[in-house]
Amino acid sequence: MTGGKTVTPVFSHPRARRIAWRTVTRDLKIGAMAKPVVIHVRFPQQLPAAMDEEQVIQACLRGLATAVQKLGAASSTDLSIYVYPDLGSIASLTGKRGDGHAVVEARVLHVVRYDPGPGGGFEKLLVHEGTHVLAHEAWGTVGTPLFGEGLAVWAAGVYGGVSLDNWKRRIRQPVPAVKDLLGKLFRQMPENQSYPLSGILLDVAVEKLGIRNVRQHLYGATASTWEAACKQTGTTAQELESEFRAALAK
Ligand SMILES: [Zn+2]
Repeated sequence: MTGGKTVTPVFSHPRARRIAWRTVTRDLKIGAMAKPVVIHVRFPQQLPAAMDEEQVIQACLRGLATAVQKLGAASSTDLSIYVYPDLGSIASLTGKRGDGHAVVEARVLHVVRYDPGPGGGFEKLLVHEGTHVLAHEAWGTVGTPLFGEGLAVWAAGVYGGVSLDNWKRRIRQPVPAVKDLLGKLFRQMPENQSYPLSGILLDVAVEKLGIRNVRQHLYGATASTWEAACKQTGTTAQELESEFRAALAK
């Protein structure tokens, strides 16, 4: 502030509506983890607790446990999960459309509740969004949306309730080159093509190179460092490309 003038910040979006939340806190402890991760599951205060609230909480914990196991990485700090009753409320309260998203720096997940049954859509959504948060904390900043989304789709094993194997038949031809998917094209394609493709690529990469190589070399790579990154894992960009295409043809 200079010259005694008051500076008023200008927000590009109207501030999201705020409500009070009721919090249920649980410990998530998996295998040989030194200490549990504290999970805060938050529900709108104004709504009565759903009959199946405990199932919703259990589905959250199962989804996060799967993400931890897939990545081999746990969070060292608390995670918060905001559970919305429907698509309208998540949009009006967060300003974002869709069934879920993660605010990785804050270790917060925003999710719409669906059927909380074992292996159901809600649990898979938690795996997906939880993977974004855990990978960011344990692995650092991802190099491309292709690998950020790919990792989350691969961990959940599904996109839009459909398994990656079943997506192979639904991918439109011609499939773009990995090099192009690493760039702007990824966000320009319909999500129901780019996301399954990214999950299938991660499946091929993890199977061929192992999660350690994916973490150390490919996760942070960009289109311009891609070829060198592949060489560091002991393969080539060309070889990975052909295995990706072979997997799509299965
Ligand atoms: Zn995602």
